[in-house]
Amino acid sequence: MMALKQAPYYWFECDKCGVSSGEDSDYSAWSDHGHAHDQIVNDDWWISADETNHYCWSCAPKCDECKATLDNDGGCEDCDKPADPGLIPGQTAISGDAQ
Ligand SMILES: [Zn+2]
Ligand SMILES: [Zn+2]
Repeated sequence: MMALKQAPYYWFECDKCGVSSGEDSDYSAWSDHGHAHDQIVNDDWWISADETNHYCWSCAPKCDECKATLDNDGGCEDCDKPADPGLIPGQTAISGDAQ
């Protein structure tokens, strides 16, 4: 007997503008988390070092000096700017929500 099955699907949404990772892609969602993650890496999304923030390329934090996209730890490779965890947005919001 055939049974109708359904699986969870995964995609990312930009934490800033809410754009979905599948917006301009052949695949809007993936059946596993790893593929969804690979897709945003390939699309130059910015992922914070602790993986809590995912920003699309246009919302990715930029270097004040050279305007390059910052590393995921808040540093800039081009200017040798050191990592700056304080730059990672959303941290205050997350801790503020925790009761
Ligand atoms: Zn965005
Ligand atoms: Zn820079």
